[in-house]
Amino acid sequence: MRKKLVAGNWKMNKTLLESNALLYDIQKLIEYGVTDKVSVIVCPPFINLYSASEILKNTGVKLGGQNIYYKDEGAYTGEISASMLKSVGCEFVILGHSERRQYFKETNEIINNKTKTALKNGLTPIVCVGETLEQREKNIHFQIIEEQIRICLTGTDNENINKVIIAYEPVWAIGTGKTATPEQANEIHIFIRKLISDIFSKDISDNILILYGGSVNDKNARELFGMSDIDGGLIGGASLKAESFSNIVKSTL
Ligand code: PEP
Repeated sequence: MRKKLVAGNWKMNKTLLESNALLYDIQKLIEYGVTDKVSVIVCPPFINLYSASEILKNTGVKLGGQNIYYKDEGAYTGEISASMLKSVGCEFVILGHSERRQYFKETNEIINNKTKTALKNGLTPIVCVGETLEQREKNIHFQIIEEQIRICLTGTDNENINKVIIAYEPVWAIGTGKTATPEQANEIHIFIRKLISDIFSKDISDNILILYGGSVNDKNARELFGMSDIDGGLIGGASLKAESFSNIVKSTL
């Protein structure tokens, strides 16, 4: 049985004080024991991570970063390494988010390098894939997603793939208020699971977590998470309010 997982991607939101306040609120609303049934992760901006790890100690809520650079260390001004994230208490990292692909020109090859670096450093990568509206309208979305998965996971062996989480996030649904229907999303999740089975093994595909992301809120989450192959969500906007985020978490129960 796959344990459901809900991760909040705060993007470039919340100053340190705002971040601390939100974390205290989340902590209050996600009662003791909830995280035994559903994994809960928050991904604040880098600058707030250390403080977040102090606040979240012993709460069961885990911490992730929103990006890493793929080199281990060195003269890469402005970048953050995987071991730095580990050192402030992160266990997860979001990689290949569509905003990074769009605004920072990240390619599948770059995301592949980052995935390998995350795994090497003991971080669980949440690898994001998803088609644009144009690609869906041209009916090439399956092809695009297959290419993203194949390239982003190149070189990942059967042992490491167990530690990877995939997030299907149709670009047209991110931050737009347009959610994929549960059936539309599940169709892609089934496709991704089958692809993982073909590339790795049936056993791995049965166990890998595939999250849905794109305008998930506390009204639509239960139906989405109730689908056969949707193992939880990557939540943007609705993760910035403690109440909506905790309601989304609880909709998995
Ligand atoms: C995201 O940024 O990963 C996301 C899914 O955003 P939103 O929930 O706001 O659409």
